[in-house]
Amino acid sequence: MDFLLTKGQLEFRHRLRQWLQSNLPADWRNGHLKRAVDDAERGAILRAWEHEVFKAGFAGLHWPLAYGGHGLTLVEHFIYGEECGRAGAPEGINPIGRELVAGVLLHAGTEVQKKHYLPRIAACEDVWCQGFSEPQAGSDLTALTTRAVERDGKWVINGQKIWTSYAQHADMCLLLVRTSAEKKKSQGISMIMVPMNTPGITRRGIQQLDGVWDFNEVFFDDVTVPIENTVGAVGEGWRVSGAVLAIERATTRLYRQARYVHELQHAYRAACARRPSSENSDLLKQAVTQAYSQLLVLRALNVRFVGRIMAGEQVGPEASILKLCWSHFHQESTSAIAEILGEDHWFPKDDDLDCGRFLPVYLHSRAETIFAGTSEIQKDIISERLLEMPRGR
Ligand SMILES: Cc1cc2nc3c(=O)[nH]c(=O)nc-3n(C[C@H](O)[C@H](O)[C@H](O)COP(=O)(O)OP(=O)(O)OC[C@H]3O[C@@H](n4cnc5c(N)ncnc54)[C@H](O)[C@@H]3O)c2cc1C
Repeated sequence: MDFLLTKGQLEFRHRLRQWLQSNLPADWRNGHLKRAVDDAERGAILRAWEHEVFKAGFAGLHWPLAYGGHGLTLVEHFIYGEECGRAGAPEGINPIGRELVAGVLLHAGTEVQKKHYLPRIAACEDVWCQGFSEPQAGSDLTALTTRAVERDGKWVINGQKIWTSYAQHADMCLLLVRTSAEKKKSQGISMIMVPMNTPGITRRGIQQLDGVWDFNEVFFDDVTVPIENTVGAVGEGWRVSGAVLAIERATTRLYRQARYVHELQHAYRAACARRPSSENSDLLKQAVTQAYSQLLVLRALNVRFVGRIMAGEQVGPEASILKLCWSHFHQESTSAIAEILGEDHWFPKDDDLDCGRFLPVYLHSRAETIFAGTSEIQKDIISERLLEMPRGR
């Protein structure tokens, strides 16, 4: 794709790169906040950042002008992900709104929904969370039991969601619920947009081993929302959610891939500065070079998907290949590098915040094989739908 970038796209990359160089949030250095902040302050900083991105004209790049976008293409969206990763800019607080909900609304929303919600996502006025998983329904989402019953022209929702990222900051939730008990479990599921300040919603944070609070349990007790908040037809939620997950698997790794190059270079520099004569530096150089080479191969796959989506093709089950390969590459490569870096790099002294930066990258990579569908599920999709192998037990 790089060879085919138009003059306008090259100028766009240049303009964005310059803007990022001079506009990252205060106290933001090398991809991280320099000082410790609590979850609420971190949320406020990230929200303000996304609003700045919007004001500078870099939000909703490939959405139509009529919905608050810029009418550009997925190529500019691709460049945006890469440049933000390259600059170590914040990923923001609203990836679910930008990458998933926007895609769903463009695909299945009504005119009224698109005109109302998309500009609000672009400006980061609404932060979104995704209420799909439940305690007994993760890989098999068709087992979900959260129910919505129609009463007096409104949905009344009862049930529980879990692992809901960003719910503590969210203004809106894209919720999957059961609206009828059909024989086939995937039928009778609907997708509903729920304002998070609706009475009857309780959020409970789940603290992780590293002390960070990234996701939540969310409880719904007689939560009432208008029927017009349904996305797509009633009972079509399963089909619509399939489109969301394919989008997530095909296009949301760009930022992380570019950002990982940045982290690799930083880990190498930090390790060399700490122990200049270490014999490990040669090992580290080899591991970083190996990882970088593999990253470029994954990028080529990403470019191919972007090209196909722009040509009007469905990426569908092939998106699972990218998700599977990236997750395992990221885990294996962070493990190899962490081992070479050694323990003193993991637990730096207080005055050496930069040195411990690889720890969160390593820890986050552990989750890659779980969220957006586990690796086993990706393998099921690839074997059954692309290789036409028989369905497993
Ligand atoms: C960091 C992170 C963020 C997340 N954010 C969100 C969010 O914002 N919103 C949301 O709704 N969810 C979110 N999730 C939840 C995520 O989607 C689920 O964890 C995931 O779908 C797996 O479901 P589960 O945890 O119930 O595991 P289970 O489905 O119970 O799976 C347990 C194990 O069994 C395996 N398994 C299950 N079925 C099969 C099969 N058919 N064949 C072979 N093996 C199988 C799985 O691969 C896994 O190893 C997040 C998860 C993580 C880790």
